[in-house]
Order: sequence, then C-alpha cells, then structure tokens
Amino acid sequence: MARTAPASAAPGASEERETSRNMRGLNALWPFLKPYRGLLLASLCALVLTAGVSLTLPLAVRRVVDNFRTGADALLDQYFLAALGIAALLALGTGLRYALVTRLGERVVSDIRKAVFDRVLGMSPAFFENIMTGEVLSRITTDTTLIQSVLGSSASIALRNMLIFLGGLVLMLLTSVKLTGLVLLLVPAVIVPIMTLGRRLRRISRENQDWIAASSGNAGETLGAVQTVQAFTHEAQSRAGFAEMTETAYQVSLRRITTRALMTVIIIFLVFTGVVGVLWIGANDVRGGAMSEGTLIQFVIYSVMVAGSVAALSEIWGELQRAAGATERLVELLNATDTVHDPEVAKTLAQPVRGAIRFDDVHFTYPARPGMPALDGVTLDIAPGETVAFVGPSGAGKTTVIQMILRFYAPQRGRILFDGVPLEDMDRAAFRRHLALVPQDPVIFAASARDNIRFGRPDASDAEVEAAARAAAAHDFIAALPEGYDAWLGERGVMLSGGQKQRIAIARAILRDAPVLLLDEATSALDAESEGAVQRAVEMLSQGRTTLIVAHRLATVKKADRIVVMEAGRIVAVGSHDALVAEGGLYARLARMQFTDGATAA
Ligand code: ADP
Repeated sequence: MARTAPASAAPGASEERETSRNMRGLNALWPFLKPYRGLLLASLCALVLTAGVSLTLPLAVRRVVDNFRTGADALLDQYFLAALGIAALLALGTGLRYALVTRLGERVVSDIRKAVFDRVLGMSPAFFENIMTGEVLSRITTDTTLIQSVLGSSASIALRNMLIFLGGLVLMLLTSVKLTGLVLLLVPAVIVPIMTLGRRLRRISRENQDWIAASSGNAGETLGAVQTVQAFTHEAQSRAGFAEMTETAYQVSLRRITTRALMTVIIIFLVFTGVVGVLWIGANDVRGGAMSEGTLIQFVIYSVMVAGSVAALSEIWGELQRAAGATERLVELLNATDTVHDPEVAKTLAQPVRGAIRFDDVHFTYPARPGMPALDGVTLDIAPGETVAFVGPSGAGKTTVIQMILRFYAPQRGRILFDGVPLEDMDRAAFRRHLALVPQDPVIFAASARDNIRFGRPDASDAEVEAAARAAAAHDFIAALPEGYDAWLGERGVMLSGGQKQRIAIARAILRDAPVLLLDEATSALDAESEGAVQRAVEMLSQGRTTLIVAHRLATVKKADRIVVMEAGRIVAVGSHDALVAEGGLYARLARMQFTDGATAA
C-alpha cells in the first residue's frame, strides 16, 4: 500500500487550519462553558487565591532571613506561624482548584460528546460517504479527551503560570529594578526558540493525530468486514496496512517527542544560565552593601518562579494548540451542513394516514457520483394498500427509490409526495414514523432478541413483541434459543442464519405497524424452508399496507398488484406478471433468467 497521507491530513486541509491561528479555535468552547459560569468563576477564584499565596512566600522568606541576621528573635516565631497558615491556605486552595477545574472539564466534555453524537446521528447518508465512521469516532473520543485534559488541567496550569509570571515580574521589579532589567534582556533569547519550535511542534502533532485517526479508521473497516478479509486470505495485507499506518503514526510521534524534548532542553538551559548570571551580579551587590541577603534571596526565588512559569507555559503551549486543533475538528462536525433539511415550518399529515405515494418526475444523482443520474425522471403513483414490486437489473435504481422515500437524499428535480404532501414540507422524523423498513441486509444489534424486535416500537409490550415474532415466523427459532427472547444475539447477529435475521427484521417492521412498508428483498438465496417462512411473513406484513418491494424472487413478484420494471434510472414498463411476460420485453428476459432459481425453490 502506498504511504499517502490520510484523507483528513490532505496538505491543503491541515495547512488551512494552521494558518487560521490555532488558539482562536478554543473560543469555540465558550458556548459549552457558558452554562457553567458559576463553576468557572469558583475555579478562577481558587486559582487566583493559590497563585496569590504562592507569590507571598518569597516576601516571608526575606523577612525571616533578614530578621534572623539582625537577631529579632521574638518575631521569628510569628513568621513561622504565618508560614504554617499560608501552607494551609495553599493546600486548601490547590485541592479546591483541582476539584473544581477537573469537574468543569469532565462536565463540558461530556456535553460536547453528546452534542457531536446528536449532530452526527441526524446527518443524512451523504455525510457518511464523505467521512469515515472511524474518523467520527476518533473525534468523539480522542479529540474530546484532548479538550478534557486542557479544560481539566492544562488551562488552569497555564492560567496559574501566567498569574505567577505577571505577579512575579512585578514583584521582581519592586525587589530590584536593576536585576529585573538584566533578566528582561534575556527574554528574547528564550522567546525565539519557543516560537520556532512551537510552530514545528504544532504541525507534527496534527500530522500525528491524523495518522492515528486514519489507522483506527482502517482497523474499524477491516474488523467490520473480518469474514471477507479472512475468506480472501487478505490478513497479511490488512496486517501490513494497519501496521504501516500505526508505525507511521509512531514515527511522526517520535518527531514530536524529539522536538518537544529539544525545546525543553533549550529553554531550561537558557533560563537557568540567565539566573546564575543575575545571581552573580546580585551577590556582588550584597558584598558591596547595596542589597540585603534577604532581598537577594527574595529576588532569586521570584526569578526562579517566573522562569519556572515560562517553562511550564512553553510545555502547555503545545497541548493547548493540540486542543485547539481538536476543538476545530469537533466544531467542524457540529457545524457540518447537511444536504437534506427539515423545513422551518413543517406540515403534518392528515389523520388517518393512508399511505399514498407519488413520484413526480423525480431526477436524482448521488452526490458521490456526479454526472451519473440514479433516477432519471421517475413518475409513479402508488395507491394506499397497494403492493408494488420493483424489478430490473442491478444498478437500475430500485434501492434508490426506497432511499428517496425515506428522504435520505433529496431529489435535484421533481418531488415525492406522501398522502399528497411533499416530503420536503415535512419533518423527516415525523413522516418516517409512518414507514417500516426491511433492509436488504438486516441489521441485528448487540442486544437480546426481544430488544432487537422492539427496536421497531420501543414502547411495545412483551406480548406484542411475541405476536410480531409469530407473524414473522420467527417465534419458533427464538423460543428454541437457550434463553428464548432474552437470548443475546451478538454483534451484528453473527449467531443467526440469513433467513433468521430477515425474519427478525420483518418482526421489527410488523411491530412498527406503519401504513407503508419498504422492503428490500435479500439477493442471497435462502434455503427452501427459510424462503417459504420469509415469504409468508412478508405476505402477513404487506396486508393492508402500501408495500414497495425491491424484488428478487418470482414468488414475490407474482403476489404483487403491480410490477414496475426499471432500467438505468427509468421506469420502462408497469403491469402484472402475465401482461409483462406477454409483452416480451426486459421483464420477460429477466423472468426467464433471474427468477428460474426462485421458481424452483418456491
Ligand atoms: P439497484 O437497487 O437497482 O441495484 P441502486 O438504486 O442501488 O440500484 O443504484 C442505482 C445507481 O446508483 C447505481 O449506478 C449505483 O452504483 C449508484 N449508487 C447507489 N448508491 C450510491 C451511493 N451511495 N453513492 C453513489 N452512487 C450510488
């Protein structure tokens, strides 16, 4: 596999984000922090308190030292008592700050996780065609964890160090203008390497994260198709592919580590060299009597504090920038625009819902496949209660018809009406309530058989679930499972046969009890017994409902009121089985070829 950069690390994308001045990315967190202003304020108070207390310590030290020398022993005890009080304040303030700040971080990140999931869950399929699920997951987990570490600690460490830096600087000036001036002369020597290496660090961090996201996306895809991978003995390639991505992520992280280590070395060395130099000059002043010992010690402690805060800030800087990048990626998800929208003011369906569907000159091209219309002027009226079978060669647009009724996509031209109301005039969730879907590849969730069926209507009673299972010819095999309806069906139903999964999916749709049934028949052949059971279940289900079936079996087609023959996104014929066979067109050919196996099975 060629080692190209992962999709989200496309040079354009990452550079564009970097030049958008990363720190501002963190502003996007404000809406999430706003509801917890009280907590934020309390955290700030604890933070200012501890920083303030730390800054008073050197003053106390000077007094003790100078008093000790002049022999004012009476005051000495009081100073030590005061030191004890300060220590208690510091301990309390620090504990409080930790508790408040960490809680704030956890709270806000939980909110962000929920907001992102809510947003993504509502997106139409086109969105998921452009972003890998693994990438979404890594944004919800890794990126939010980065933000959590910033809100829950780094931000407060940064703020405390900024306070100590500023406060320390002022107190240094008050202690000795001359020595402070010398220290400030050294500042540019420290700032320049921070800026240069910091920029490099930011770029590498971003690249590192992109590779991690790419490798977990790759793993997700491979594991999701593990049987296909094994069946094609593709393990070696899959292993190599994943290993290469993971290894690249590691190599990039090595660069990150080296840069950061180098940065730390340079900064600490420069800062302490400066301190030693200043100390030397200060020591000469003390010898000449221009300054007391206590004052020099006080000054030194302040400069060490200020230098320490600069070092801490430089360490945190990279982390803040990583979090800014993470915030940008999350905001990108939160602000993602969808191709399908609900109207501002939604129309509702007249009760009772009848289930009439009309396609009015519908033209549709998948966003991922421009220039290749999937539906090319489809007009069709489906009466309430009617059963319509869609047949045609693979790629004709049959499944697309189902997808359009679900309004997973919006047509570019023409419209679809449900009981006379255009789909785009209604809330998607509102009219989907009147649809029951049996997809071609039935989805089984990692839950019990009961909960899998109840997915169709979460408030259904156990008796209703069982009745639906009976109607779907699923009761017998479920009852025969070791724990019956409570049996865990495993991830994606690996324990069930294809026919069993379909019957669960049908039971789910029966339970939903919707006026419109959308059924994408499985293309894979079932054994004769399953076939018969599924067939009877479908018949049960379609009674009294408008039913659209993407049909692959002769038995299904023969039971339909009408057959719609599609080819290349158009309807080429409509009629009954006998009439269409007599016509001798595409349908007659399909019936001869495609349905022969089905006919023998039925
Ligand atoms: P059928 O169900 O009749 O086999 P489909 O409705 O699935 O056909 O597909 C119609 C056309 O649209 C095909 O050319 C198919 O490749 C294309 N198509 C289907 N789904 C997508 C998609 N998500 N993105 C891009 N093209 C798609």
